[in-house]
Amino acid sequence: MKCDNLQLPFAVRFGVGCVATAMAVLAFIPFSVRAQTSAPETFQRDPKQAIDESYTQLIRKYTTAPALNSPLTDYLPASDSVPTPAKVLGDVAGAPDVLPYAEETYRYFRMLAAASPRVKVYSIGHSEEGREMIAVAVADAALLAQAKENGARLAQLADPRRLQLDDTKAQALINQSAPVYYITGAIHSPETGAPTALMELAYRLAVDNAPYVQYIRAHLITLITPVVEVDGRDRMVDVYKWHKAHPGQNWPYLVYWGHYVAHDNNRDAMVMTLELTKNVLNTYLEWHAQVLHDLHESVPFLYDNTVGDGPYNSWIDPILTDEWAMLASDNMARLQSFGMPGAFTHGNFDTWSPSYLMFLAGMHNGISRLYETFGNDGADTEKRVLSPGEYARTWYRPNPPYPTVLWSQRDNNNYEEAALLSTLSYFAHNAKLFLNNFYLKSKRSVEKPRNEGPAAYVLAQDDGSWNRQMQLLKVLALQHVEIQRLTKAATVALPPPPHKEGEEPKPGTPPPPSSQTFPVGSFVIRMDQPFSRAADALLDRQFWAPDDPQKEPYDDTGWSLGDLFNAKVSRVVDTGILSAPMSPVPDLTQIPTDELGPGPFYVVNNSAQVSLASLVYALQGAADVSIGEENFESDGHKFAAGSLIIGRVEMSKLKPLLEQFDLTAVSLARQPSVKAHPAAAPRIAFMHTWLSTQAEGWWRMAFDKLHVPFVYINTQTVSKEADLRSKYDVIVFAPVGYSSTQEIVDGLPMWGNALPWQTSSLTPNLGKLDSTEDLRPGLGEAGVAHLKDFVQQGGLLITSEDTAQFAIEEGMAPGVFVAPPKTLKVVGSVLSSAVVDNKRPIAYGYEGAIALYSSSGLAFTVSNLTVNRDILTAKDYKRPTGRGGPDDEDTPQGRPAEKAPPLPSPKAWEATPLNEEQERNNPFLIPPEYRPQVILRYAAMKDLLLSGLLDNGDSLAEHPVVVLAQFGKGGVLLFANNPMYRGETVGSYALVFNSIINFEHLK
Ligand SMILES: [Zn+2]
Repeated sequence: MKCDNLQLPFAVRFGVGCVATAMAVLAFIPFSVRAQTSAPETFQRDPKQAIDESYTQLIRKYTTAPALNSPLTDYLPASDSVPTPAKVLGDVAGAPDVLPYAEETYRYFRMLAAASPRVKVYSIGHSEEGREMIAVAVADAALLAQAKENGARLAQLADPRRLQLDDTKAQALINQSAPVYYITGAIHSPETGAPTALMELAYRLAVDNAPYVQYIRAHLITLITPVVEVDGRDRMVDVYKWHKAHPGQNWPYLVYWGHYVAHDNNRDAMVMTLELTKNVLNTYLEWHAQVLHDLHESVPFLYDNTVGDGPYNSWIDPILTDEWAMLASDNMARLQSFGMPGAFTHGNFDTWSPSYLMFLAGMHNGISRLYETFGNDGADTEKRVLSPGEYARTWYRPNPPYPTVLWSQRDNNNYEEAALLSTLSYFAHNAKLFLNNFYLKSKRSVEKPRNEGPAAYVLAQDDGSWNRQMQLLKVLALQHVEIQRLTKAATVALPPPPHKEGEEPKPGTPPPPSSQTFPVGSFVIRMDQPFSRAADALLDRQFWAPDDPQKEPYDDTGWSLGDLFNAKVSRVVDTGILSAPMSPVPDLTQIPTDELGPGPFYVVNNSAQVSLASLVYALQGAADVSIGEENFESDGHKFAAGSLIIGRVEMSKLKPLLEQFDLTAVSLARQPSVKAHPAAAPRIAFMHTWLSTQAEGWWRMAFDKLHVPFVYINTQTVSKEADLRSKYDVIVFAPVGYSSTQEIVDGLPMWGNALPWQTSSLTPNLGKLDSTEDLRPGLGEAGVAHLKDFVQQGGLLITSEDTAQFAIEEGMAPGVFVAPPKTLKVVGSVLSSAVVDNKRPIAYGYEGAIALYSSSGLAFTVSNLTVNRDILTAKDYKRPTGRGGPDDEDTPQGRPAEKAPPLPSPKAWEATPLNEEQERNNPFLIPPEYRPQVILRYAAMKDLLLSGLLDNGDSLAEHPVVVLAQFGKGGVLLFANNPMYRGETVGSYALVFNSIINFEHLK
């Protein structure tokens, strides 16, 4: 319907473009607890409310230019009873030189809650290091008092099955309910501004009588977690204090943020390995919030990046993409109207991967949002020089940031608060619309099987996959996805296979199966549940077109968890599966296991479980554990090579361990007759650099969670430790992440002052995981020599990606080279590989194709020489000019032809064999027993890509990806992939652990 001039004033008054819509809004009012009105025309303060003059003066003093503030935030309302942030900070929020610890921030919020009935503080859990996380709710006292009842109504909207999908019932609930808007700050520790901005925001929401603020607190509950990464926050404040105490000096970089990972704490929303992820999602879902809005600081001056750029995640409801656009469009328009430069919403961030914290909302029928504001990594006021790309005026950024700017933490806080307050106002004024959308998205998630599908994902009951299935199902449980189990076998129709143009079925080949039967006990993830999208996005495969207009994926392009967990997941489109008999699995730890027989021998079949090493270490000294070297049969049971044979064990010791580690064992009356070697529980050292600890942190977490013990050392200790072999059997040198051999060896340049990472009274939170008086020195030439000695004396060095390259470049992996990538493009993709020789202990338990995570397509080549020389092969041979056609042989005239010996034609994963001529007196020739063993190779081109982006994959296809190099008496295990990455690559963990428990028997 068109709006004409006569109707316009009415429409404007209701803040909508058209009368018909305005009437629709009015129609809700009779049912509403509090009437919803149009958006306010201004954000004017209440002229009758006094201003806190001294606080206001300091806001203005610390704001470096008037345009960098808004009418919403350039004053602070006064209160007789409610303390301002200055009570704890000693200065205003965003003041220079002031950076509070998480605990100080909490102290303020608790003071606020004690002083105002509009504020409540909840403890929501703890970090890995035991620091508390909180959520602060702010709303009218009446609304807060009703939060439980409000939550109970929202819970029904969140699960429309409880309303029989009845829209009328939903409308009644919508009309009575207030939405919850959840804001989180300081997940990224060097991005320091959010805690003080959120302290002041809470004060304003509780105290300010401006009509727009009154409206917000009457119509929605604002929920705030001021510090998400609490461990990292406290370390960051320590570093900042050190910096303030050492003027004129360089200060230490934040080498640890959280206990395990740094920036990647915002890539954990899929597998949910970190406490902060679990605490935020549980809080978000307990409150049945509609928005999760995460605050970051890396872009000038404010980038509302949720609109960003394509490709968008394929599994979200289209309603969400329009909500992003609505919210950002209003939000940016408001900031423009305040005259604040550099606020924009388009830009290069693609919303493809669901790994970001905020995306927990996107996957759970809410709205994910993220601001990037500008930060100085601390509370110093600094002159900032922007890059041309940052200050360019573009179509989506007509009012760009200044090319140079004096920038303060207060400026940052002004932007964060002004943007949040205006967006909260918009959300409050459109609360019913967003609640209705929340209900619709939840309902459409339940209706998924009958709309876009699929109907379900099924993990077929299979003893061999049980352990890895459990790891995957636990992730789904953390995501609050419902899991069911078939109580009878179920058969589903399979869709016809995709028909390829011009491809005729070969005569004699049987037609593809048209149905599939899943046995009783199979796990079913039904798609007619509220969080079906979370499961769908994680279990489906991803395809990023090589010619996608987006040439710079922001993060990984593939993550299909069924592949990465080595747990086959069937995508079932036949809705018949939904009526198969099944029952819910409310608690995965309560699934009854088979009775363990009387022994005295037990065998745990090796099917590449993640936790065989866990069991070996736990049984150390309490049992005899050996490892069968061949496939074997005993008492009618079949076991694969690599199976654990356990004797001399108390059943009371073994049974709880099997349960803890999701393992099953077969009881045998007699010791099986198979060639076996004792399972090793070698002494492991984890060596980290001081360059970066994040990539190794993911490995460290995997070892910790699986209870595989290690000593934590660093490159500097190794440079001083001559006799590593006497202390350790295995050294794990996990990837550093984008580092070079030169950086690993040399560390940072040594001019300037030392950069200590140590516990002190000034820095009580540093130096706990590991410490050094100076972060700068690297491994050094001495450290390289010590590592070489360690391997030559029989140690095992485990490397991956850049540390594998380091081992190759330092000469510790004779005959292994990096395959030239040519024009290859891989961006965080899931690629398929195959076992070259499954008699090798490292590959024990693996069968068929193995999915691997590749960050950028690293692959190896192997050679029988220590030098990378091209040796002519049949594939590369080009015939010379002469008689005959292109495929004929030339014939010398005047004598009989001599047959040339055939040129070698090795596979891409094999070394080219040398002839006698090439081997004679060749000092570079590697003796056969010292040649590298290729354990895994990449799949052929047609099978290579499982998920994500792969372009020009020929330089990767069939090339070695996991290789054991021989060096002296020991070995260097080289992974071109990253087998322990973000908790996502559970399926490749056993490659690492096999190498550990078969230590000394790897050849
Ligand atoms: Zn960030």
